Amino acid sequence: MSDTTGSPPTAPRRCARCLLLETHDTLVFDEAGVCNVCRNIEHKQQKIDWQAREQELHTLLDSYRGKYAYDCLVPFSGGKDSTFTLYALVKSYGLKPLVVCFDHGFMRPVVLANTERTVRQLGVDFLKFRADWKVVKKVMLESLKRKGDFCWHCHTGIFAFPMQMAIKFDVPLVIWGQPSTEYNAFFRADEPEMVDEKRFNRYVNLGITAEDMVGMVGDGIELRDLEPFRYPSKEALRALGYRSICLGTYIPWDVKEQTRIIEKELDWRGDLVEGVPEAYSYEKIECAMQGVRDYLRFIKRGMGRTNHLATIDIRDGRLTREQGLRMMEEHDGKRPASLDVFLRFMGLTEAEFNAIAMQHVVDPHRHDPSRVQRGPELPDQHLWKLE
Ligand SMILES: [Zn+2]
Repeated sequence: MSDTTGSPPTAPRRCARCLLLETHDTLVFDEAGVCNVCRNIEHKQQKIDWQAREQELHTLLDSYRGKYAYDCLVPFSGGKDSTFTLYALVKSYGLKPLVVCFDHGFMRPVVLANTERTVRQLGVDFLKFRADWKVVKKVMLESLKRKGDFCWHCHTGIFAFPMQMAIKFDVPLVIWGQPSTEYNAFFRADEPEMVDEKRFNRYVNLGITAEDMVGMVGDGIELRDLEPFRYPSKEALRALGYRSICLGTYIPWDVKEQTRIIEKELDWRGDLVEGVPEAYSYEKIECAMQGVRDYLRFIKRGMGRTNHLATIDIRDGRLTREQGLRMMEEHDGKRPASLDVFLRFMGLTEAEFNAIAMQHVVDPHRHDPSRVQRGPELPDQHLWKLE
């Protein structure tokens, strides 16, 4: 491993149980060398009384059912988690939801077809929104440069826009899928995660508000152009009396089992994703730029998508740590073929992209570009129309 600063390189510490590295946001290790995400999940698996939680959910849903034009609002991407959430709310809990899809602009063909089948088969009102593509392009470049993460418009839009619609349609109950405690430690598993403004500003918006973004981008962008990415005001939310919850707070979240259910019941289909073993074809199929996003994470933190997937399976006892490590070494860190599409869209050269990514490497990780191999092109890449 090379080190440009001249100081002796130290490899980042890895959790003794899962495969997370210390470069993962919010990660700390205990005396046993086990990370706080593992401890959160352990708490969840052992100490949560799921029967009591589900009873709580029934009571909560009963207090909203039939009182508004819609019983709840479901933010929806067409991926496995939001599809299962919607399926469960309609089929198991008998709710009438308003389904709101914030389209980040990079939806792949399989996910678009899944969404069509799902909303038709379930019989739900469906609202889809996509922001001005030229604005999106500008804020993507800005957020890439500033944070080494080009997804600002997506992070903020996905969480802010449905809340705006909750106000507009007077739907106080908003139901998301999986709590983020499964993946990070911004929240503890014993404090039910509220998907609210605090969470939005704590990590969703990368520390950049829409007001900040206007000042950063300039270039004729006004605050009103970034309206879809702004969290509604406290006053408006208070007037709505909103409640924003995760279904996964009330029922145990089993991705593999849930995927099996939606495949069977809704003909939901998975897809290949760059840097991910074929067995995980249910994961992150929504975004054409997922491969580039995961590659950036690998450059910055030394972990790709397969690390994340193996980590979950190790905690669930479906994979040994050694199997996970091997799988990770085989799949993580390849230069995705979709980077060509991304660079064309952003108007960047690969050298410029690499230079930006290298500015955001998280200590003590060191990225070694000379070891990077190229990954194969996805079968649908030629169908992506981004210009
Ligand atoms: Zn861990």
